[in-house]
Amino acid sequence: MSEHESQNPFDVFAELFPQVTDLNAPFWEGLAAGEVRLQQCQQCGVYQHPPESFCYGCGATSLAWSPVGAHGTVYSYIIVHQPYHPAFRPFIPYTVAIVQLDEGPRILGAMLGLETPIAIGDRVQPRIEAIDGERSMLLFEPENGR
Ligand SMILES: [Zn+2]
Repeated sequence: MSEHESQNPFDVFAELFPQVTDLNAPFWEGLAAGEVRLQQCQQCGVYQHPPESFCYGCGATSLAWSPVGAHGTVYSYIIVHQPYHPAFRPFIPYTVAIVQLDEGPRILGAMLGLETPIAIGDRVQPRIEAIDGERSMLLFEPENGR
């Protein structure tokens, strides 16, 4: 390892980090604090993602952020073999899954270093990795190390 290489393989994602807005900031702040937070409608109780200024279910504008377990099942996935950005090269092949969260919403997340391929319906859990001192990213991994 050269002196220019980082100890943290995830710091390369700093330049790819999404734009943080007033609407999505609580999601990213949650990850930085080590938890997955979802927007929840205060009218009908539905969780939703991505965040919006109104409830997808009932249209109410009273929304709050709550920490959730964010376990779920694989709804669909692809296995990526081509590095579409140099930052992804160390991780290929990697899986990108659409996870049906137990709380309701579907969310996209990468799954890295899988020893056996996942299948649709497999149980997964969140894996939060720090990018730097302020930001973290949401990945998924097989539930309970299975
Ligand atoms: Zn609602």
